[in-house]
Amino acid sequence: MPRNEPPSDIEASGDAILSVVVGMGAFQTVARRLLRDAGLPEVRAGEWYPMHSWIQAFGALATNVGERTLFLVGTKIPETAMLPPNIVDVASALGAIDVGYHMNHRRSGAPMFDPATGTIRPGIGNYALTAAGAGWATLVCDNPYPCDFDCGIVHGFAARFAPDRLLVRVTHGDDGCRKTGAQSCSYRVRWV
Ligand SMILES: [Zn+2]
Repeated sequence: MPRNEPPSDIEASGDAILSVVVGMGAFQTVARRLLRDAGLPEVRAGEWYPMHSWIQAFGALATNVGERTLFLVGTKIPETAMLPPNIVDVASALGAIDVGYHMNHRRSGAPMFDPATGTIRPGIGNYALTAAGAGWATLVCDNPYPCDFDCGIVHGFAARFAPDRLLVRVTHGDDGCRKTGAQSCSYRVRWV
């Protein structure tokens, strides 16, 4: 189970949930059953659902499908994600993950990213771009989603904007992992 439990007044967008379910491919039936078990019998685009229930279903799903599938599902998220027009390269794409993440969650009915002010509201952790240079970047994830899924998301965003997507590498930092009880995971991204 993910360690960083979301507060009870947070909701996740149906669109975000469905992008994961559809990305599950052959595991879609399992995913929908686990959603039902978690109290989400029917998920629709444009609707909002308790993040707590979604994370519960996702945790159960993670133990069912394995790390490789979680990674692959993560890599598919950026392929369909809508991105602001100022995303032009890998570094700006990696910096925008956190904005997209917060746009897909809301608290007490209010979006967790305010485009008018550019403000991100706290409460669900982050996909924080903590350092970047020529051909490399570091992200720290302390959100409730599974490590391998996040690793896939990071890889997918980098691959979408890298000159050669086959040369994108994401390695997990050796400073702890949420799978073994750490508060966050760090990922080192390299591309050419
Ligand atoms: Zn990890």
